Amino acid sequence: MRIAIPKETHPGENRVPITPDHAKKLCKMGADLVIETGLGLGSGYTDAEYTDAGASVSHDRNELFSSADLLLRLRKPELDEIALMKRGAIHISYLDPFNERELVAALKEAGITSISMEMIPRTTRSQKMDALSSQANLAGYVMVIEAATHLPRIFPMMMTPAGTLKPANVFVIGAGVAGLQAIATAKRLGAKVTAFDTRPVVAEQVQSLGAKFLEIDLGETGETSGGYAKELTPEQVDMQRQAQKDHIAKSDVVITTAQVFGRKPPVLVTKDMVEGMAPGSVIVDMAAETGGNVEGSVPNEIVEWSGVTIIGKGNLAGEVPRDASQMYSSNLFNLVEDNWHEEQHIFAVDFDDDILPGCIITHGGEVVNETIKNILEGGA
Ligand code: NAD
Repeated sequence: MRIAIPKETHPGENRVPITPDHAKKLCKMGADLVIETGLGLGSGYTDAEYTDAGASVSHDRNELFSSADLLLRLRKPELDEIALMKRGAIHISYLDPFNERELVAALKEAGITSISMEMIPRTTRSQKMDALSSQANLAGYVMVIEAATHLPRIFPMMMTPAGTLKPANVFVIGAGVAGLQAIATAKRLGAKVTAFDTRPVVAEQVQSLGAKFLEIDLGETGETSGGYAKELTPEQVDMQRQAQKDHIAKSDVVITTAQVFGRKPPVLVTKDMVEGMAPGSVIVDMAAETGGNVEGSVPNEIVEWSGVTIIGKGNLAGEVPRDASQMYSSNLFNLVEDNWHEEQHIFAVDFDDDILPGCIITHGGEVVNETIKNILEGGA
């Protein structure tokens, strides 16, 4: 089976889907692996490292697409790339299938088997393939480093002959994978950390990291069977905003990571709350690219509102591309290895598998993922 890895073309994207270490493992499994020249440079991997691993290097991007049986990637494909691909080829990448109607339709029409990394079911066995978690972990770390860089204060308490500096107050809204890592990182830097999440089970995890959990009674909240938050009613969102207001005003740093899977994130920090913060304070809105938890945050920009810095940077894991690549590559490799047919040396698409069917979006000219199919057909 010919596995191709084209270079990522999205501006500022330095992560790579497969590192030379995993390239070597794929070649050992019997894959005919070809990479596009310069694939790994953004993460510090040279073509030579890939050829040493057993891969060949191509300078012809179009041929890479048209000859591949399996494409391993990070970002979703462009429409003109889909047009180059063979009918029946398999394409694995992030796909954002909830929002990418045209893309899903093109993959369906082209007869591509598209696999979405976002849709890997979050079971114990699939943890090693869970790219959402691996990249969110790094994003949690990066958000705190960004905040610390922009804050005109330090995070830890410092007692010196020149006086005592109080620790910074950090408030993390949303304590899933990214939020918990943000809490841990801010604690390591010596900040006083408080957090809130609508899933009650999270309180104990927050406290085990040495942070305080802000108690807010929103009535019935809970989580889905997949471990995700349920969407709040507009009244609950309002209750949450009011209850957080005072705490936000006292915070030097607010980090928001609140997401509801497959839906627009809730706006939890309004402009009047930003105005209530002391000038110089910093807000990092991890959801800025998908709609924003913070009013006034701008995707991929750092803006100021009444003296408060609001960071809306996207691709936070991409700020640490070496580690992000290593983790994503490991997730992707584990997915391929888990579905590899040892004798035939192919990626076997098995609809009886416990993990794979959940993340296949299109196959054989059909949209096979029921959730995505309902969204596309229902026009929701
Ligand atoms: P996510 O990115 O969908 O959401 C981030 C956080 O925002 C979640 O903790 C969610 O509860 C929270 N949130 C939503 N609305 C909110 C609101 N109004 N206010 C405050 N917080 C709000 O979630 P995620 O981080 O990708 O994962 C969520 C959970 O899924 C994890 O914490 C974990 O328990 C579970 N999970 C399980 C596995 C596994 O078993 N393999 C893997 C990854 C995650």
